[in-house]
Amino acid sequence: MTRVVLVGPPGAGKGTQATALSRELGVPHISTGDLFRAHIANSTELGQDVKRYLDEGKLVPDEVTNEMVRTRLEEADARGGFLLDGFPRNVGQAEVLGKLLSTAETKLDAVVEFKIDEDVVVERLLARGRDDDNESVIRHRQEVYRTETAPLLDYYADLLITVDAVGGVDDITARVLAALRDRS
Ligand code: AMP
Repeated sequence: MTRVVLVGPPGAGKGTQATALSRELGVPHISTGDLFRAHIANSTELGQDVKRYLDEGKLVPDEVTNEMVRTRLEEADARGGFLLDGFPRNVGQAEVLGKLLSTAETKLDAVVEFKIDEDVVVERLLARGRDDDNESVIRHRQEVYRTETAPLLDYYADLLITVDAVGGVDDITARVLAALRDRS
């Protein structure tokens, strides 16, 4: 169970869980949001191109995102597995990921859905206070999740593991690990 995608609305705690799960499973945590933010912080050309999308809570165009992920997955540490956090974010990206993996003669093992009420996540995000965490941008990101990302739950129906994302951080990590173990 080493090639895993994490899906859930912004604020569901995917990033926190991915850090803990990465340690437990011994595979890298690959967050497209973190990769974009690092590019922005370093003022790379890619960073300058994508900044406005992050600021507005819009998806970065697929070509840019897919290419960044392709490059990252080719790095040595990702050969044996990975936890993808924030990618894929729409069905088109999921199709590209499927092709990348089949070219490498491998496939996903599981897709973990973090299930949580929208009202709860909006409260959490307002408390987090990241640059893109003001209320109108948060609402837009939730809308993008509902319309663009949630269809992945059907797309990945055969691989889907749904976990209740309300509770203590350690409890949720334990739930995910138990669910992954049950599947393997
Ligand atoms: P996150 O850190 O996952 O909340 O992502 C922050 C922002 O990065 C999103 O609101 C998007 O602007 C951008 N982003 C992250 N992942 C993707 C993706 N897979 N496709 C397009 N844009 C993304």
